[in-house]
Amino acid sequence: MSSGQLRLMAVHAHPDDESSKGAATMARYVDEGVDVLVVTCTGGERGSILNPALQGRPEIEANIAEIRKAEMDRARAILGVRQHWLGFVDSGLPEGDPLPPLPEGCFALAPMDEAVGRLVKEIREFRPHVITTYDENGGYPHPDHIRTHDISVAAFEAAPDPDRFPEAGEPWQPLKLYYDVGFSFERFEAIEKELLARGLPSPYDDLRRERMKERMEKFRVPKITTRVDVADWFERRDQALLAHATQVDPNGWFFAVPLDVQRAAWPTEDYELASSLVDSTIPEDDLFAGVREQVTE
Ligand SMILES: [Zn+2]
Repeated sequence: MSSGQLRLMAVHAHPDDESSKGAATMARYVDEGVDVLVVTCTGGERGSILNPALQGRPEIEANIAEIRKAEMDRARAILGVRQHWLGFVDSGLPEGDPLPPLPEGCFALAPMDEAVGRLVKEIREFRPHVITTYDENGGYPHPDHIRTHDISVAAFEAAPDPDRFPEAGEPWQPLKLYYDVGFSFERFEAIEKELLARGLPSPYDDLRRERMKERMEKFRVPKITTRVDVADWFERRDQALLAHATQVDPNGWFFAVPLDVQRAAWPTEDYELASSLVDSTIPEDDLFAGVREQVTE
């Protein structure tokens, strides 16, 4: 089939989110010749150092912004994607009761129009056919993730409109918008079932199970419309995530499930189709379903 150059844009909140949400999908599409651009809204300046081997080192804490840029460069190279910074400052995850106010000048407090305008400019320059982002709950309730959702939806709508942000370039109509569905209950259960069937212990402790339940009760359960088979790209996903060395515990639960168990139990990354201007049949197995036919340039 001869289709033109397909382009996929993934909008993420922090460096490392691209490697934990949809990374295998991006690696697969890159290998298939799709041009993939990650747009990272913030520099991740307020991320906690989660790798026990790198904790308590003042030289890392003092240079975290630079270190995270270098980590992002490595992850980008492993995935084979392009990557742009939207240029906002990490809002941090507020903790405590009552929650402390968000820090001045952070992404979540930036004027909507400014953030949407910057993303519209990225869309009009890159001209993606498909955009991925988070759902309205952010995938998890970090203020930057929710903001990433808000500006992605707004920019998807504004990019084709010549009256909006006229200084941000020629209008461009993206054809589909998806939400990442990272942690569905079905996936969690399928993996646990496969582990137990092989006589392996489950890495999901009561705390994790409890948190999952809480989330299911608190937030809308995403509707999986699209499952992309990426079993052969799980290794690349893990390598990319490990490149964010300060942000992940290499012995943590994310890496605890053997890849062959993941491949057998749940070989896909999953998405919810949020907006579409093309016809496609649900369930889909391709983010470009209905798009390939239209792209000839
Ligand atoms: Zn994040």
